[in-house]
Amino acid sequence: MNEKWLVGVDLGGTTIKMAFINMYGEIMSKWEIVTDKTGKSITTDIAKAIDKKLEELDQPKSKLIGIGMGAPGPVNMATGLVYETANLGWKNFPLKDRLEIETGLPAVIDNDANIAAIGEMWKGAGEGAKDLICVTLGTGVGGGIIANGEVVHGVNGAGGEIGHITSIPEGGAPCGCGKNGCLETIASATGIVRLTLEKMNRTQTESILRKKYEETGHITSKMVFEAAQENDELATEIIEFVTFHLGLALANLANGLNPEKIVIGGGVSKAGDQLAELVSNHFKKFAFPRVALGAEITIATLGNDAGVIGGAWLAKTKLM
Ligand SMILES: [Zn+2]
Repeated sequence: MNEKWLVGVDLGGTTIKMAFINMYGEIMSKWEIVTDKTGKSITTDIAKAIDKKLEELDQPKSKLIGIGMGAPGPVNMATGLVYETANLGWKNFPLKDRLEIETGLPAVIDNDANIAAIGEMWKGAGEGAKDLICVTLGTGVGGGIIANGEVVHGVNGAGGEIGHITSIPEGGAPCGCGKNGCLETIASATGIVRLTLEKMNRTQTESILRKKYEETGHITSKMVFEAAQENDELATEIIEFVTFHLGLALANLANGLNPEKIVIGGGVSKAGDQLAELVSNHFKKFAFPRVALGAEITIATLGNDAGVIGGAWLAKTKLM
């Protein structure tokens, strides 16, 4: 049984990440294919890619136990439907059924942020913690919550939407979800850049970022973290504001969950210890003391592999 493989699939807007993963969570082979942006041939493309890779590796299909896949949108795990996606044009799309028909393998699906959280729980920064909050700071802010080893989905698939916790109750910036003042408008890479440009325009505060902006014509969240590390006044104020709101939102969430680990991933998390420490300091101020005692804030370790590894975990635990 141990020589059998699981298939992890992580569907993104531009690429589909795929991997064959053994029962210990080790990646045996991983690759990417281009996402069909019309959404129509995605399951066929995945099926073909699996067959092609098996042929390349000279392995029979019987080697594979099943597929665990993450989709970019709210999902009903029981029915295998993807409720909707922002980009692929899917509405109540029967992803599980289509995958099973096209590949001839059993399949289980979940939301992409959720499988990333599961991946970190299994093989990453979560280190087997059964109560874990995973927050992904990228273009947006994604999240996955695991309570007692199971992903929290909620009544209609929107559990774990940490990015849409309200941080600024009045007068906040508009969010893609239709609300204003969501955490995503502050703590995403996009939010950090917006806040920095606004502050540069509104104040006279000196900053090396002004010069960088003149030179390159843009600001990135990485530039802001780097400037803050050099004690740049404006950058420090922005990072302070961002980590304050992250710490506050995570503490409020943690007070309801009492997690063992809070894992921060995504592009912005490349700021590493600098980010984890600042968020942790604010978190400790706002969390119930016993909650603060139990929770460790840490940076994700699996990067882009979190999704496929989480998918494999789903296949291992739900299909066997
Ligand atoms: Zn929102």
